[in-house]
Amino acid sequence: MTCPQCNERVPAKSLWTTSGLSGVVCPHCRASLCPKAISALALFVASFGMGLLVMIVLKREGADFLISFAAFFAVFVAVYAALGPMILTLRVKEHGAARLTERGA
Ligand SMILES: [Zn+2]
Repeated sequence: MTCPQCNERVPAKSLWTTSGLSGVVCPHCRASLCPKAISALALFVASFGMGLLVMIVLKREGADFLISFAAFFAVFVAVYAALGPMILTLRVKEHGAARLTERGA
């Protein structure tokens, strides 16, 4: 991932903040960034699909629901973490507009 403002590389760990994906801050220029909706959606679908696939395979093998679900969750998180930096593209958050919408909601 690169910062759209300064074009420096944003490390993957910047994504793992307490406020989640909505609170990414560029470590180089301190710009508030957030992932483009379409890339976040693509990442979610990819993680969900992989997790689901593993869950279906495990169920066919006779694993019980809890184990299948645990595997689904583990794969979901693993794929999310692995593909996140590759899939996500960032944009600069517009301060004024974003704040107003948050307050209105
Ligand atoms: Zn930057």
